[in-house]
Amino acid sequence: MRTLLHVTGIVQGVGFRPYVQQLATSLGLAGWISNGRNGVDIEVSGPDERIRQFILELQSGFPRPGKIATLDRKELSALAQDASGFHILPSNASESPGTLLPPDQTICAECLNEVRSSTNRRYRYPFTCCARCGPRFSIVEGLPYDRVRTTMRTFELCSACRNEYEDSADRRFHAEPIACATCGPRVTLISPMGSEMVRGHDAILRAAERLRAGDILALRGIGGFQLLCVANDGSIVNTLRTRKDRLEKPFAVLFANLARIEAEAHVSAAERIALTDPSGPIVLLQRKESSTIAPEAAPRCPLLGAMLPTTALHSLLAEAVDVPLICTSGNLSGEPICIDTDSALQRLGSIADIFLVHDRPIVRPVDDSVVRESARGIHIVRRSRGFAPLPVFQLNDRRCIVGLGAFMKNTVSLNVRGNVVMSQHVGDMDDVASVDLLETVTRDLLRFYDVRPDIIACDLHPDFPSTRLAERLALEYDAQLVRVQHHHAHVAGVMAEHHIHDEVAALAWDGYGFGLDGQAWGGEVFVVRPGTGTRVGHLQCFRLPGGDKAALEPRRAALGLLAQTMNDDCLSLVKDAWPEGSGQALWNAMQRGFSAPWTSSMGRLFDAFASLLGIRHVSTFDGQAAMELEWCVKENHFNLPDPYPIPLSDGACWTADLRPLVQASLTDRSAGKPASEIAAKFLASIVDLGVRCCERTGKRKVILGGGCFQNDLLTRALVGRLERNGFDCFLPLQVPINDGGISAGQVAAASYMSTMGGGA
Ligand SMILES: [Zn+2]
Ligand SMILES: [Zn+2]
Repeated sequence: MRTLLHVTGIVQGVGFRPYVQQLATSLGLAGWISNGRNGVDIEVSGPDERIRQFILELQSGFPRPGKIATLDRKELSALAQDASGFHILPSNASESPGTLLPPDQTICAECLNEVRSSTNRRYRYPFTCCARCGPRFSIVEGLPYDRVRTTMRTFELCSACRNEYEDSADRRFHAEPIACATCGPRVTLISPMGSEMVRGHDAILRAAERLRAGDILALRGIGGFQLLCVANDGSIVNTLRTRKDRLEKPFAVLFANLARIEAEAHVSAAERIALTDPSGPIVLLQRKESSTIAPEAAPRCPLLGAMLPTTALHSLLAEAVDVPLICTSGNLSGEPICIDTDSALQRLGSIADIFLVHDRPIVRPVDDSVVRESARGIHIVRRSRGFAPLPVFQLNDRRCIVGLGAFMKNTVSLNVRGNVVMSQHVGDMDDVASVDLLETVTRDLLRFYDVRPDIIACDLHPDFPSTRLAERLALEYDAQLVRVQHHHAHVAGVMAEHHIHDEVAALAWDGYGFGLDGQAWGGEVFVVRPGTGTRVGHLQCFRLPGGDKAALEPRRAALGLLAQTMNDDCLSLVKDAWPEGSGQALWNAMQRGFSAPWTSSMGRLFDAFASLLGIRHVSTFDGQAAMELEWCVKENHFNLPDPYPIPLSDGACWTADLRPLVQASLTDRSAGKPASEIAAKFLASIVDLGVRCCERTGKRKVILGGGCFQNDLLTRALVGRLERNGFDCFLPLQVPINDGGISAGQVAAASYMSTMGGGA
């Protein structure tokens, strides 16, 4: 019999055609396979039972990151003559694309062995890859995925590579980005002035020497430039910090192999899997006391962001240097990463002493991803290289919906025929280049999938650059504009990821989101159904003197909190936080209501406590104060102390009264109790508040969303307590829990809202 199969999903760029050919051949089936823009078509003919087995193995055996989303089957009449052999036919580019674009893959073990083997023809070749590994998303210009539509098209295969490409028994059979030293891209070491110093393997060796001597290297990687220096010398790390204007935010560290990581940090089974996953993310680990990494790599931070080599180039360099390397995005703080050598020389010329570059064009910037193990296993903190643009969840909605996100850590999401794909990390919208990149990434995704938006979703905030882009695109495409309240987007994303369709409770805790009443929300309790939700509770509001300035100055939140909960005698308690007299002046201005908006933000409450406890008055990066408050707590999540009281008011929308909390903690502070002890009690109080809020809703399912839940201690303690009290807790794993996940949540919310006719 003869059967036609149509397969969609992540089936291009992941070695699917050779896999299918080998499978069919091993079962003695004849036929063909062809890439189309709308998926992959397969025809097989042979005995009935063999075809059944073929389909079964196809669905179960195809290795990751490949994924079959749908498989349609049609029986055909038998051919007059028996077909022979199984062939890969040329791609059919005429249909509209239903294939999902594969992400970049880190080098596989087999390729790494070849690079290390002196008898292999790819010995020390830095761009070694195969059908299972190598660049994808960062080099693909269009679908279907073929070499002619990647930046590898300019490198013509040599005869040895062509033989591999055409040999169905070879690991490189139809592997589009393959190359070798004869025919492929090369590395070159250049000076900041752009003059060529040395090429090939010697360039890597020279770069390693310079790194060991204390220089800072700009390396052109898979998805853009990275900045590297040795990680075991604090003064060198600080030089990089000063030049990059990134004073305290933790840096990631690149290690040559897993054993090196395990010498520096505790690695759990799940973390080991994450480190060696083909996505190759930075994994946040618990640093060992004995670690040799300079504390300057992550000041005061008990964590170590570790990563393994993502490419042969990384591996060759890391092995040649032979000490762990700081590895951070090649940008000035706040800007997108550089992808072109010319722009890197211009923008990174004052940071790097030397540049290791190559001649394979990068189509789009793709930063490193970050993951962490928490209450629910490994979750994605920053979704970028290795994950983008894979789908984060599915919707029962075929309309093209674009979500443009909010402000911080922004991304773009797109519903393509029911698959919600999320872009790489774009960045904060306070940088012009990042705002431009948001538009580029949006148009890139629309062009790739050849779709026109039916709906464009954005934040409620009228002045976000992402909102203005949404308004402009909605006009251009004549699409419906749906404005989604920030915290509803957080919650909707988690509901979509976990297929929740009933009415549930939700805690949406973060730093800032524009509320339905126009105020700054962030410590909210909701009862939600898909597409609609009611705010049933929130933190007592307090003022933020200076508005946005408070995000990086916890002492301002502290002043606002004190003004709302104490009298002005207490100003003496925070005098250390301020230069002589300036606290009093700000206090007076705030009392007159001058530039001091109200907020119910949990993130700002954490900031206020960090300042009140003397942990941090001024931050150098978003979230720093809350993190340091968490790190100063000595207890683990099982044995937090008894909470301070936070009474909840009655009524349709309860308010959490912060006065007893502030009063009791300041009394403890005056009595000389250590900050770590009060911080632990503060965390316990927030956990207790969360549990009581959930109980009041009467719902048994609880959604947690928003950046505050990046606080591992808070989240583990809260989830633990909720579960012991019989709740089912849901946190996002694929979608970042911080604002990096907002775009996907907006797509889900817009889908639900526009089918139900509900409001925000
Ligand atoms: Zn490989
Ligand atoms: Zn070659």
